[in-house]
Amino acid sequence: MNINRYTDVKEIELSGINASPGICIGKAYLVGREGVDVVKKYPIAPKNLDKEIKRFKSAVKKTRDELQCIIDNFPEDFRHNVNILETHALLLKDKMLYGSTIETIENEKVNAEWALKMVVSRIKSMFEGMADEYFRERGSDIVHVSDRIMRNLLGQEQVNIAEINKRVILVAHDLSPAQTSQIQLERIMGFITERGGKASHTGIIAQTLEIPAVLGLGKKIGIIRHDDIIIVDGSQGLVIVNPSDETLIHYEEKIGEYETYKANITRDAHLTAKTLDHLTLNIMGNIELPEEVVSVLDYGGDGIGLYRTEFQYMSRPEFPDEMELFEKYKDVVDVMGNKPITIRTLDINGDKALSKNNGTHEVNPALGLRGIRYCLKKTDIFMTQLRAILRVAAYGNVRVMFPLISGVEEIKEAKRFLCEAAESLHRDGVVFNKDFEVGIMIEVPSAVIMADSLAKEVDFFSIGTNDLIQYSLAIDRGNFEVDYLYQPLHPAILQMINHVADIAVKNNIKLYMCGEMAAEPSYIPLFIGMGFEELSMNPQSIPMVKKMVRNLHREDCKKFVNQVLNLTEISQINALVDETYGNLLKQKIYSE
Ligand code: PEP
Ligand code: MG
Repeated sequence: MNINRYTDVKEIELSGINASPGICIGKAYLVGREGVDVVKKYPIAPKNLDKEIKRFKSAVKKTRDELQCIIDNFPEDFRHNVNILETHALLLKDKMLYGSTIETIENEKVNAEWALKMVVSRIKSMFEGMADEYFRERGSDIVHVSDRIMRNLLGQEQVNIAEINKRVILVAHDLSPAQTSQIQLERIMGFITERGGKASHTGIIAQTLEIPAVLGLGKKIGIIRHDDIIIVDGSQGLVIVNPSDETLIHYEEKIGEYETYKANITRDAHLTAKTLDHLTLNIMGNIELPEEVVSVLDYGGDGIGLYRTEFQYMSRPEFPDEMELFEKYKDVVDVMGNKPITIRTLDINGDKALSKNNGTHEVNPALGLRGIRYCLKKTDIFMTQLRAILRVAAYGNVRVMFPLISGVEEIKEAKRFLCEAAESLHRDGVVFNKDFEVGIMIEVPSAVIMADSLAKEVDFFSIGTNDLIQYSLAIDRGNFEVDYLYQPLHPAILQMINHVADIAVKNNIKLYMCGEMAAEPSYIPLFIGMGFEELSMNPQSIPMVKKMVRNLHREDCKKFVNQVLNLTEISQINALVDETYGNLLKQKIYSE
């Protein structure tokens, strides 16, 4: 890879994790970068030195304007603090900082960020060694000022994603699921991040929002600068920086092809998912916010198999009250009519941290106070949600599902709260309905082992493969370093799913799946063979999965499951899936 971008701007291709399909072309908008630490050194050709110095000067000017704006708007009561900012504004033109940075760019023929970083570290060590406190203070003022300049050079601002008002592609160190859910679709074309794994909630939300995304690009993302033209190919996991005209034309064509392909697959999305031997499956959509419900219907979803309600609690200082929750759930019910809606109770924390997190900082959040554990501790929050769910159940086909159940006590406790919530509504004389299906997610290995006892407590199991894989294979689902180990067809995972399926059938309870494994057409024969009656996924994947179901025989699928369960290595299973269903996928599912 050639990163001498100033000697001759070259096209650079970066590869990461294909987290959300689709292609977009646009300007890079850098957010949340870690400033000085990510600064890279690269040479500047003599003919481009003037341009580079101009870039530095305009970052300084921008910094001065920002400071002036802060000074002008400072509240009267705190005017005495303005002195510090005025000193900072003067320092912007300080010879030691301003003059030396320009000299370093000129003499060493390096980029402005690197020159600034070098100059500041020299100044820092000079002032740190001084006995006089006044001078030491002056050193720290210079560091503050240079940080501001650096942010402007890198294009880094303290951005609130919801407020970005340009058509851009976000380039971030990381985006939390809460930030991702705030993305304004009419403005953000796509995003790429240094960190993040395919099964992270950030990737899942990008899929639901239908924004192309490439995650886990690693440190190499640092070569992208604010306003660089980039192409994001979320289907292939590729990012092209400074594309040539030829590449641009090629990708413009690919965008056209992708749009045609999407139009084609949605054409028959409303047909039932019935196998060739007449077994009908419910193919459902997963949503995070009520607004997403429309896309479930557009893609032919038979209902909502997972409503991740926690997003209504994130990115805000106060939790919603019962009325707000009721109204949000009612919006979903109104759109879905009689179709089933599986409301999962709060699955907060883990990677879905709250902004209001009561001051707790967990060293290992995935194993911390997450999901049902949180609710059983914060019982007032739990009761508020349960009351809202019971109330909305009077208006639609609602089910309740509890997340992260690890043993029998937890589901008994959760059900006890559900009864209590119903009793309190009864006492208050409020309309509600408690006659609905109650189920649990199977996503913790101990729940797999205890499935037989858990089945006695519930109407359905819904397998959450995203977390089941994370916890069983000991892989952080959001960590790109171990993404290669995130293997859904690991024999241990398939045996666990099959075990849970057998237990559900034996106990005559319903068997659903709402983890993203359900979205992969090549895995569908396994789930049909194991006896699943409902699969739920990001809405975009519904048409393909339905199409796959329509090309299968249940009896063949059962035989296939037996064959697969005899294998002990991931590579053997992948090969068998490809051998058996590869042609079908190529010829019938992906081709039209
Ligand atoms: C899962 O873990 O598979 C799941 C569907 O829940 P979430 O992705 O919200 O953790
Ligand atoms: Mg989960």
